[in-house]
Amino acid sequence: MRVRRTAAALAAATALACGSAAFAAEPLPTTEIAPGVFVYQAPYQLLAPSNDGAIANVGFIVGKEAVAVVDTGNTREAGERLLAAVKQRTDLPVRYVINTHMHPDHALGDVAFKDTGAKFVAHAKFARALQARAQAYTDGAKRALGDAYRGSAGDIVIPDVEVAPGEPKSLDLGGRTLELEAMPTAHTDNDLTVRDKATDSWFLGDLLFMGHLPSIDGSFEGWVRLIARLRERTAARVVPGHGPASANWPDAVAPQQKYFDRLRSDVEALLASGASLRQASEKAGLSEREAWALFDEFNARNAIEVYREAEWR
Ligand SMILES: [Zn+2]
Repeated sequence: MRVRRTAAALAAATALACGSAAFAAEPLPTTEIAPGVFVYQAPYQLLAPSNDGAIANVGFIVGKEAVAVVDTGNTREAGERLLAAVKQRTDLPVRYVINTHMHPDHALGDVAFKDTGAKFVAHAKFARALQARAQAYTDGAKRALGDAYRGSAGDIVIPDVEVAPGEPKSLDLGGRTLELEAMPTAHTDNDLTVRDKATDSWFLGDLLFMGHLPSIDGSFEGWVRLIARLRERTAARVVPGHGPASANWPDAVAPQQKYFDRLRSDVEALLASGASLRQASEKAGLSEREAWALFDEFNARNAIEVYREAEWR
């Protein structure tokens, strides 16, 4: 077994040595990006024992009576570390755990909040999408984490409250309101955004990638269309699913748009020259390689998605 030197492991060992069975999670480090809005900025990494599964930006908003968490990380441990971060900042209870979409790096930490009394909130299509992938996500986590993996496919949490496209929902934290909006298919078929009205901070989930290459798992053209609409809106700041803890809107989306434009024009040129799907996956978007982390991990799949959609146009 791999020896882990993280503070969380040391804290757990100390708890055991003291006769306590409770796992003492080390709080994720968070930044207060606006009054009462805290964000953990994740590294641009795939799931690995060294990062505990805390590989997507997650955060929480503190009202006068209660807290809402936005996304929870890829593992139970990441969720526990987020819960510890909440407890470090406030004694108020977690009333809501909101997922911006069903990808494992955003949703599999939900299990750590099951006993908090929180209600789980997500897009109306979240549950179906997550159930369809639960086994694949579990298998992927086992491969990535080996002995450090503590979960199972049964750990997925199905939402108590669903938000449907065209029917925004308000959540109350006591003197503080969050506005949730379910989006049409873009990054996935269950993207949801969260806006804190008090500070005009807008959590975009993976509709916005910065630094970390975007991954297309819904509809490329749908995503491009949605961003064109969202660009027309204002916000004091946005929180990307991957990238800095907060950024300016709409400037923040420019690099992603540039990548998408490049992918589309490369794929169209390759299609026009009779290139195969495989050739497109190897060539499209390559000029953007230096601009992004994890380019080699995600670009080929993105190119395939763009090619398939272009073939149908
Ligand atoms: Zn995602």
